[in-house]
Amino acid sequence: MLGKLRALMVHALILRARHRLLPWAGVLTRPGWVVTFTVALVILGMVVAHRTSSRAGLQQLAAVAGERLELYASNLEAELARHAYLPSLMALDDDVQALLKQPHDEALRQRTSLRLAKVNVRAGAILMLVTDKSGQVIASSQPSRHDGLPPERLASALQDGATSFFATHSVGLGAAPGMSGSTDHVFVQPVQRDGQVQGLMLVKISLAPLEATWMDLGVRSHGEKLLVVDELDVVIMSSVPEWKFRALGEVSDARRTMLMNTGRYPAEAPLSTLTLKDEERVAPDAVLMRVPGVAGSRSGLRLAQERAVVPLGVRLMTLSDPADVWRNARTAAWGGGAVGAALGLLALYLSFRRRAVLQLFEARNQLQLAHDELERQVYERTRELRRTNVELKHQIAQRLQTEDELIQAGKLAVLGQMSAGISHEINQPLTALRALSRNTQLLLGQGRTNTVAENLKLIDDMVERMASITRQLKTFARKAESGHAAISLLGAVRNTTLLLEHRLRSEGVSLNVAVPESLRVHCDANRLEQVLVNLFTNALDAMSDAPRKVLDVCTVALPQARGADRASPQRVLVQVRDSGPGMPQALRARLFEPFFTTKPAGQGLGLGLVISSKIIHEFGGTLKAHARDDVADDGQPGMVFEFDLEVAADV
Ligand code: ADP
Repeated sequence: MLGKLRALMVHALILRARHRLLPWAGVLTRPGWVVTFTVALVILGMVVAHRTSSRAGLQQLAAVAGERLELYASNLEAELARHAYLPSLMALDDDVQALLKQPHDEALRQRTSLRLAKVNVRAGAILMLVTDKSGQVIASSQPSRHDGLPPERLASALQDGATSFFATHSVGLGAAPGMSGSTDHVFVQPVQRDGQVQGLMLVKISLAPLEATWMDLGVRSHGEKLLVVDELDVVIMSSVPEWKFRALGEVSDARRTMLMNTGRYPAEAPLSTLTLKDEERVAPDAVLMRVPGVAGSRSGLRLAQERAVVPLGVRLMTLSDPADVWRNARTAAWGGGAVGAALGLLALYLSFRRRAVLQLFEARNQLQLAHDELERQVYERTRELRRTNVELKHQIAQRLQTEDELIQAGKLAVLGQMSAGISHEINQPLTALRALSRNTQLLLGQGRTNTVAENLKLIDDMVERMASITRQLKTFARKAESGHAAISLLGAVRNTTLLLEHRLRSEGVSLNVAVPESLRVHCDANRLEQVLVNLFTNALDAMSDAPRKVLDVCTVALPQARGADRASPQRVLVQVRDSGPGMPQALRARLFEPFFTTKPAGQGLGLGLVISSKIIHEFGGTLKAHARDDVADDGQPGMVFEFDLEVAADV
């Protein structure tokens, strides 16, 4: 019962575990889904790792590039600051002041120009100019070259007092080879007297060396590109020569004309569109842009950052190559894929393990159920067997009792059959006794004491004989108590003869007993006598009409069975032979059948031989019947009944 309860609980646990795992455990046990699940995990791992790594890498790159942008801006500002004092210093010069008072004085113009040329060389500038209040150059360090000074810039300087601007000039004036133009910076100082602008002092410096440094830096910092964009969105400086004087955003014809009309850019400037397409903002100050025409990873994606240089009215922009970021992201993606695969395989392993555990549980449960069922069946069977056993024992006891009763009944039946003879056997001495006692009384009266003594001896013999008959009857009729002992076979035969003596005598049967005096057999005396009485009675019955009546009782020592143990007891065959008519072969086979009898009703029950056979069987022997092998002269075949008994050791 307990086992069954435990098995049920285990079953319930399995069902619950299955229910919990149901969403995926069942799915993962199918090979197709397992592969799909693992591949999905690998892809997910790759995507997540790539995205995370590229995002972190781009932010790191933005931080580094931001710092470099600051450096570039500082460079530019420092380069310009180096010359910023020059125009105001030169504006105080006596010659410049004198010339502005008399702008048409040719000698003064030449002297001022000479002075400007000297200072220009010393200061490392490329051009110094003085204009009158209409913007006309009246003195110059290099009188033949005044290009790159847009008139509107000069006008605005005269009107608003602007102090500096970027200027460009065409190829050939200190420009790097391959450039369509070079960018300079012009410092302007309005020269005033009495609050009135009398003219302008201009100093122009070249930014080409700075640009060359940037290009060098850009190459060294893995292809970082640098741009300086003016307020009209035109690239005026760049580490990429081809981008110079190209405009950001769409350049229409009208815009190009407008740009050309400003006069800020060289006549050869392309002023075409430089498309920088925003792709994704990766940090507040950094945007991923697609830059056409640049070699590199991911179709020209560059990380763009810009910073305004307010005093100069320009913007500095860096385009960093994120190739390293993509490389690291690729590596991370493989790592993520590997982790995904590991997770997938782990999930797979766990799923299979769980399945195996479930199967094990189930198998154990089945085993337990089978075991419990078996136990139950064994219990039921044992109980049934025990019951059957008890019943059997009861039946055996009943049968034994019945058999005992049957044997007793058989015995009593034999006694009944013998009663006439026995009563005759007792009546005869009684009659004789009466006659003898009367005779003795008379003899006593006559004083014939000798004869009286003889009579009394006869009386005593007769009484003794009657006593022995009644004693034998009592013993025979007694209910036998099973218990084997070594008894005298001859004694048993004599006791039997005593009971049947009257019949033997009255029917004129001659009895020949050839049994050794000393032979002891191992059995129960009472029952053996019952068998002998049966066999003798049958023989007497059979010989009742026979011309010759001979009853032989003899023994034959049986040889030891071949292969039997030397210590095994000796056996003896006891034969009862008669000279009756015998029995036909066909009927002989039925001799030991219960209720088989040939005797008239009331005389035979057909149980005598059955009971005898059983008793002999109890003694360990077998009762058999066959015709005599020595046919007598009168032609009567006769019968032989024989049984074997264990010989008891001599006492
Ligand atoms: P019952 O004596 O009551 O008939 P038994 O079992 O003793 O029962 O004998 C069965 C039958 O066997 C007898 O009726 C008789 O026909 C036959 N039988 C037994 N002994 C002999 C014998 N010695 N000779 C011939 N027939 C015999």
